[in-house]
Amino acid sequence: MADFEQSIDSPTLAEGVVQVAEGVYRVTTPVPFRALRTVNCYLLRGPDGWDVVDTGLKTPEALAVWNAAFDQLGIAPGDIHQIILTHHHPDHLGLAGHFQQLAQEAGRRVVPVRISPREFEIIGIIWGSDRKTRNQLMEAFFARCGLPDPAGTNFSPREIEGMRRMMLPTPAITGDLRPGETAQIGARWFEMIHTPGHSDGHLIFYDPTDGLLLAGDHVLPHITPNISFWPGVEPDPLGRYLNSLGGLKTLDANQALPGHGGVITEWTPRLGVLETHHDERLDVMQHAVGRGATVFDVSQNVFSHRRLDRHQIRMAVTETLAHLDHLTGRGRLRRHDDDAWWYEQVG
Ligand SMILES: [Zn+2]
Repeated sequence: MADFEQSIDSPTLAEGVVQVAEGVYRVTTPVPFRALRTVNCYLLRGPDGWDVVDTGLKTPEALAVWNAAFDQLGIAPGDIHQIILTHHHPDHLGLAGHFQQLAQEAGRRVVPVRISPREFEIIGIIWGSDRKTRNQLMEAFFARCGLPDPAGTNFSPREIEGMRRMMLPTPAITGDLRPGETAQIGARWFEMIHTPGHSDGHLIFYDPTDGLLLAGDHVLPHITPNISFWPGVEPDPLGRYLNSLGGLKTLDANQALPGHGGVITEWTPRLGVLETHHDERLDVMQHAVGRGATVFDVSQNVFSHRRLDRHQIRMAVTETLAHLDHLTGRGRLRRHDDDAWWYEQVG
């Protein structure tokens, strides 16, 4: 799910653009979220123009960075050839419609905005449901997590409107990036690898010729990617995430370009750090279940709820649920389905 943080901090302005590899440029755009601050987008020069990988949110500050990047590289709107998305979260998808429209206004055919089939399906679910249905679903879900005031976690109209504004116009999207196949992005050919966890249909893109990896939010250098369980997410996102990390250890990634933060050059050690983090978190969560607890109880124990706003409570609870769900699958916890789910330790 998205980061719906509304407090606007003054984001840093145009850092412009940095070349990170042959034919690959990073554009670091500001996002108005306290926890993230920036999202990395990438421009790849190809035979038919420029390809954009992830786009940022439509804010004046982000557009200023993009304009500076386009100026610096001599890119006109009509030069955009395709837009590739690692996953559906607003900070990656936000400007896709804007770029699509710019290219079209410049007389270009419709520039494809491409994403994996599963992410395409999720976008359809999010955009296809009305606010009332969504709120009912969320309230029922947070009630089962044991929240005393489940309606208090609903996205406020102000939050939804604020986020929607940063994602307009709505792009025409194609869900044709299939894991296991290759895709030409810029002048390179990338293997598309399914990397679930942060989002069910998340993709990373690997160019074996020089070990360049577009890593999206699957592996980040300084923070651990948020792995959480929301209504509609496939079972055990954390288990699928950890499996995926294990499978990526043999990948010869010299340079991994993440969705947030700097280039990762120590690929395998970083995977190990992320695994260790979750192993420790799993132990802490199991311990916090004590003699029996709801998801909310455990999240209050693990995260200090006093200081959390509505958005952070949603994140804390859904992240806790991902861990408890995984522990249940491993036979370390047992879940009882009463009005609210509650867990007890096994053995
Ligand atoms: Zn992101």
